[in-house]
Amino acid sequence: MKKELVERLIGKDVKDLSFWEEKFPQRSAGIVTRVAPSPTGFMHIGNMIAAVIPERFAHKNNGVFMLRIEDTDTKRKVDGAVDLVISSLNDFGIVPDEGPVSETKEVGNYGPYFQSQRTDIYKSGIKYLLENDLGYPCFCTEEELDQARKEQTALKMRPGYYGKWAKYRNAPEELIEKLLDEGKPYIFRFRAGGEWDKKRYFDDVTKGKVLMPENDIDIVIMKSDGLPTYHFAHAIDDHFMRTTHVIRGDEWLASLPLHIQLFEAFGWTPPKYAHIAPIQKLDDGNRRKLSKRKDPEANISYYFEQGYPVEAIKEYLINLANSNFEDFKKANPVNPIENFDFKLENLNNSGALLDFKKLDNISKEFIATLSSSELYDRLLIWAEQYDEKLAKKLKENKDYIKSILAIERDGVEKVRKDFYILSKINEEISFFFNDEFSFDKKDFPVSEEFVKEILNAYIPTYNHSANKEEWFENVKETAAKSGYAKNAKEKDKDPEAYKGTVSDVATILRVLITGRTQSPDLYAIMQILGKDETLKRLKAGL
Ligand code: GLU
Repeated sequence: MKKELVERLIGKDVKDLSFWEEKFPQRSAGIVTRVAPSPTGFMHIGNMIAAVIPERFAHKNNGVFMLRIEDTDTKRKVDGAVDLVISSLNDFGIVPDEGPVSETKEVGNYGPYFQSQRTDIYKSGIKYLLENDLGYPCFCTEEELDQARKEQTALKMRPGYYGKWAKYRNAPEELIEKLLDEGKPYIFRFRAGGEWDKKRYFDDVTKGKVLMPENDIDIVIMKSDGLPTYHFAHAIDDHFMRTTHVIRGDEWLASLPLHIQLFEAFGWTPPKYAHIAPIQKLDDGNRRKLSKRKDPEANISYYFEQGYPVEAIKEYLINLANSNFEDFKKANPVNPIENFDFKLENLNNSGALLDFKKLDNISKEFIATLSSSELYDRLLIWAEQYDEKLAKKLKENKDYIKSILAIERDGVEKVRKDFYILSKINEEISFFFNDEFSFDKKDFPVSEEFVKEILNAYIPTYNHSANKEEWFENVKETAAKSGYAKNAKEKDKDPEAYKGTVSDVATILRVLITGRTQSPDLYAIMQILGKDETLKRLKAGL
């Protein structure tokens, strides 16, 4: 296309691409990755995986990890959405080396990192394509495009702007000038070089070679509002940001032939691409993609509301993305995630299944590494955001609750592993609060008459100053004296001779003290409740 017409279409002061080549020099880092979310006001679990993987991959290889905000879809813009992206990444300990740190501030020399602020660079790209007849203006109206789509559907043809449907593909320059004179609005399209019936292998780091048809659709590259489309913008951005690896959702795999074409049109070496399969869930026995609309667990905030510690969620996401992580974890239980050698080749490429049992287990293991003070602090931070009443209770009973959380935790070798989400802890410890405590006689393993009898024998012997061994000795002795067998084996030998076993007696005490048939260390619980409360609860069984 002649220079004057190019200038008329895209403007006079548009810089040549060489300007940007110089401004954004090649980097010395061998690996450069990015996460490029669109600020929609929603952080999908898939967005988080698409952030964790490039971050780990870059940082494990002394590379650079960037955040780029893809905000060219003005209709979808939501207030506070950029802050949500930044704070969610922060919560996950994902710290980009370059990119926005707030809605208005960014760091790094390859910016701006908001696509909406990169128009000058995109215009240079358009200029290059126009000059080299690799792009052209399209004056089609919505109605014309609709009409073409209808005809294609009627003819059972692929929809799209290609072949004879690409009305302005070969428009003579005089026609373009005439339409410009008439003030007709236009957009820019890419002149696709491919043939649909030809297939080619495209490289994906995770999936290997993928056979796909070449692209023959002249896609829109710049819209009438002057903003680029994703396809075009990502090619320009990833080239000038010097991205070496584009790690993104599977939904873009089908566009890879087009994207490679764009890079080829500019004469640039494309980055390596790795596409991540979407997370799936089991629904009535069938696997399906997590739905943003239907599944609350698609939203990352769901996990925070439930009170999964962020470390556990992160570990779980890495697990989902890369099943080798499980072996690493088994071999290195205390080794931090940061030491895991993240390989894109090992990414799960068939769509991992969301598995709450696994997440719960990871979370249990993680909570077990926390001291009572650390757990208390986390619980308070969580409660301040999600459960005001609990926050108040935690503050008013700080030392008491810390001592409760310390049971089978501080200074023990085998830490309890029953807590897996912070939102359930309040319920787990409720029996320590008199107004929340109750018990059910149905839980007694023996008749009420027997309960009364054993309590009459046990209560007078209860010594609150006894140590744990002495305390348990006394339970056993009292049980034996009252006709309870040492264990099930002894009882089975002569069932008639016993009322029950020592363990039944322990259950009676547990039900009276905690209202449950299972609990952590009963001795520790009685010590925390104190002598008076313990005796009061025991006497309630009489
Ligand atoms: N904005 C695109 C998305 O959110 C980014 C895809 C990419 O990482 O290139 O899907």
